[in-house]
Amino acid sequence: MTEDELGCFLSSSLVLESMLQDIENKAQNLRTIYFEEFPALYSPGVSLRLGELLHLNNIEMRCNDATCYARSELPSIAPSLETLTMSSLCEVTNAPTAPSKFLHLKYLCIHLYRVSPAYDYFSLASFFDASPSLEIFSLNLLQELMEHDWISGGSSDLRQMQRHCHHNLQRFKITGFGSAKSLVELTCYILESTLSLKCIMLDTTLQGAFRCSDSKSKKCFSMPKGNIMEAQKALLAIKKYIETKVPATVKLNVVEPCRRCHTIGV
Ligand SMILES: [Zn+2]
Repeated sequence: MTEDELGCFLSSSLVLESMLQDIENKAQNLRTIYFEEFPALYSPGVSLRLGELLHLNNIEMRCNDATCYARSELPSIAPSLETLTMSSLCEVTNAPTAPSKFLHLKYLCIHLYRVSPAYDYFSLASFFDASPSLEIFSLNLLQELMEHDWISGGSSDLRQMQRHCHHNLQRFKITGFGSAKSLVELTCYILESTLSLKCIMLDTTLQGAFRCSDSKSKKCFSMPKGNIMEAQKALLAIKKYIETKVPATVKLNVVEPCRRCHTIGV
């Protein structure tokens, strides 16, 4: 199978989803791979053998439990990886900690459409710790409502991990930011471990929803009441736990629901 054929093959359609259980790659000079809707990678009988791809520098993948697979497998499969984009329709398994590194990874983008209530966002710090060259880290949370434990108590209740001082991360962004305790812990950990950060954006609104301020519409896209209340809790969490940890050299950009179109109040 040539590399072109393989690229076609891996990015192929949903028809392949129900048929393919086993893919073995022997095209070792691939530089980009995109695959989507592969069956759950850890299901019995499912096998994705990408081989050793020394020249691969870009992967875009869309599958369930993508963060667990990527953190576990990709450092050894693709040691030259520079950009990694993951979309997970259902994330259940936490990203594991591992000694392996993404030594060249500069851009990391994670889209999570739905996560288990037990999923620990703080486990994503494993990517951050493993990627000393990382410059941009973007996390997009797309589910309508968080079902995680809310943050409460004082800052001393936040979990701590041994910090790996990071010298290259410049931009960190979370859209769909909520009040989940593990999400606040992840944010605080990155803030406290990064010397190079220039800006951090925490967007408490729904991703992609148009706004009255920047669209031709006179009114913002409607937000369900539950999301408005979640945004309000997220704003309180930012104020209480995160703002105090933002160094003076870092620009904090907090996006909240439009006050003109959405009533904020419990
Ligand atoms: Zn508005």
